[in-house]
Amino acid sequence: MARYRVGIVGATGMVGQRFASMLASHPWFEISTLAASSRSAGKTYEEAVKGRWSMPTSLPDSIKDITVLDATAEIARIADSSDFVFSAVDMEKEEIRAFEEHLAKSECPVVSNNSACRGLPDVPMIIPEVNPEHMDVIPFQRKRLGTSRGFIAVKSNCSIQSYVPALHPLKDRFGLKSVLVCTYQAISGAGKTFETWPEMVDNIIPYIGGEEAKSEAEPLIVWGKLLDGKIVSDSSISITSQCVRVPVMDGHMTAVFASFANTPDIAEVMSIWKEYNGLPQELNLPSAPKQFLHYFDEENRPQTRLDRNIENGMAVSLGRLREDSLFDLKFIGLSHNTIRGAAGGAILTAELLCAKGYI
Ligand code: NAP
Repeated sequence: MARYRVGIVGATGMVGQRFASMLASHPWFEISTLAASSRSAGKTYEEAVKGRWSMPTSLPDSIKDITVLDATAEIARIADSSDFVFSAVDMEKEEIRAFEEHLAKSECPVVSNNSACRGLPDVPMIIPEVNPEHMDVIPFQRKRLGTSRGFIAVKSNCSIQSYVPALHPLKDRFGLKSVLVCTYQAISGAGKTFETWPEMVDNIIPYIGGEEAKSEAEPLIVWGKLLDGKIVSDSSISITSQCVRVPVMDGHMTAVFASFANTPDIAEVMSIWKEYNGLPQELNLPSAPKQFLHYFDEENRPQTRLDRNIENGMAVSLGRLREDSLFDLKFIGLSHNTIRGAAGGAILTAELLCAKGYI
């Protein structure tokens, strides 16, 4: 496989740092370009993240001296120096959409962590093990943008990664009808640490702006079908959610309740989860977890601190599967929000796009 020159836009932020640390030793991707706001532009990456490097591993030597570009003012330089970019920026939604479309129209594919282009009917929102076929909408998007190479692909919101993968193999088998989810989300999901957000120590905040709408709508997009060049959401399933911020550094946990047209047998569900594999496993992509869904038999697992890093943070952990008195079944899900839910999920998506010839 050829090596690709990769740019990271929003490289100094929580997700950007995660990209930087995960890509430092990637077999296909080589970081060529780092960009952030005008506050960081012109500094070396080491200077730009000084005092706010939040990763458990040290800053990779290979990228310390790269000069950070101004993302919005230097789009042509970013596009020229990268075969594609990962985008994770904190800007207004309209600004992000304009910025990402400008990059795509400069013939630079964008794999985005931002929500700005999610829900556009010709922009694929991909969980690689769940809906890789949504990549087939890219030619229609290219037609709209007038590009031959450039396009935007997006990752879904981090909260849904802990329950959509578990429900997906059950959806058609048993006829998924309704889902109730309560998410318990880590502070890194807000780009924060306990140092930068001391109010979160010994505290729970029962509100995360916009999160419940995303947690309810995005699974239906992921389960949507490609019709006439557009992804059409699945309208047969209802989802309701409550999303809560908890005092955990990394790892989003979810309590899930689900009802089906045909009541699933608990033992059968466990065996379906155990066997479940997607295209990334079939293609043996570098970042694909060997076992996508890990089920724990212990009553007190999964736990965020113990289990979020399973398979380098790329697997989804499940536990406490049992029958429910109101719904058919209930269980607990856990995924690492800045790895599977953000940078790692985007890297796996990019690997799939490369393997399938879209990049
Ligand atoms: P963050 O830590 O606040 O980082 C924001 C990044 O955006 C920084 O690199 C910042 O650069 C850059 N930026 C801010 N204003 C900019 C501007 N006007 N022009 C160019 N760059 C600008 O945020 P984050 O948590 O990494 O999140 C980034 C994106 O990923 C958001 O859209 C978020 O919703 C999404 N996301 C986050 C997670 C998660 O778990 N954290 C998960 C999934 C998706 P400076 O350092 O120069 O200010």
